[in-house]
Amino acid sequence: MPLLSLRALTRRFGQTLALDRLDLDVAAGEFLTLLGGSGSGKSTLLRVVAGFETADSGAVLLEGRDLSGVPPHARPLNMMFQSYALFPHMNVAANVAYGLRRDGVPRAERDARVGQALAMVGLEGFGGRLPHRLSGGQRQRVALARALVKRPRLLLLDEPLGALDANLRERTGFELRALQRETGAAFIMVTHDQQEALALADRVAVLEHGRVVQLGPPRAVYDRPATRFVAQFLGAANVLEGRPDGAGGFDCPGLGATLRPEGALPPGTAACALRPERIALRPLAEGPNSAEGVVEEVAFRGDDSLLLVRAGGGALLRVGHAEEDGAPPPRGATVRLGWEAASVVPLAG
Ligand code: ADP
Ligand code: MG
Repeated sequence: MPLLSLRALTRRFGQTLALDRLDLDVAAGEFLTLLGGSGSGKSTLLRVVAGFETADSGAVLLEGRDLSGVPPHARPLNMMFQSYALFPHMNVAANVAYGLRRDGVPRAERDARVGQALAMVGLEGFGGRLPHRLSGGQRQRVALARALVKRPRLLLLDEPLGALDANLRERTGFELRALQRETGAAFIMVTHDQQEALALADRVAVLEHGRVVQLGPPRAVYDRPATRFVAQFLGAANVLEGRPDGAGGFDCPGLGATLRPEGALPPGTAACALRPERIALRPLAEGPNSAEGVVEEVAFRGDDSLLLVRAGGGALLRVGHAEEDGAPPPRGATVRLGWEAASVVPLAG
């Protein structure tokens, strides 16, 4: 049985459908990232699971038990808010101890568990500090300690790394992953950062308009996006419009070329995705899966360059050019592009 099951969850705010008959299962001990654009329903989903928000219809089941009517503090899960929501007048130890105190955990045990939780997030010795005397990263850790101290089986994290700068963000991401392994709790972490979603998760769920449009291991979702939205949102793939040519290929007028995937082209294919880093500046095979274009822009990105290449039929392609392949061609150069059949991903919608 999954730890958490969401069944046809629906939540409306006036005209807005924040959650639209959303289904999702989360396994015990799993690290799931929820990825989606602003307004796709990520926070609403967590708030409904935590009990701060009520669904209009559908069910939230924890190990098969329906949580409707169970108040937030009585749910065996915890939520860490985007804003951290620390009590400003309480010191760090009191903030972390808050939930335990409310549950009537005796003083000695409380102190021991607060100490453990602070050690877990690297804040030993900070118990007496007030939140305003902490850095953003430290406040984030206090919020995390407060969420972990009750040893929840499920922890909900709403953009927990959002307020951190890039370096701290990466390090804290790894720490979160380690904490998740150590505690054995399932984590559902919201992010709008695709790198983060891919890097940390056992599985990624991509939300669009209040629905899960794709769910799977990071590599699978990245390599085989199911929809235009996922293809572009994750890794900014080229989405090429066209139509099946009836002979196993996909005619793409914008490209002035035919795309040919590895297997059969699924009926109803409306477009194909092609990742920038899968396009080489040379043909890789005879026949299809090759096109000509003119370099319009070259952007150096450190470990590679991103080229914008105008193909014969007018489509503008994003093409990755690795540093080890030498200097990128200059603006205005005519280039021949090629890619493997395996890199062509037919999209249904
Ligand atoms: P996300 O976290 O993915 O950015 P949210 O879950 O916060 O998205 O919001 C989903 C949609 O529901 C948005 O269109 C948002 O404006 C709307 N929404 C969320 N909460 C409320 C609210 N309390 N009142 C009105 N509309 C809301
Ligand atoms: Mg949000």
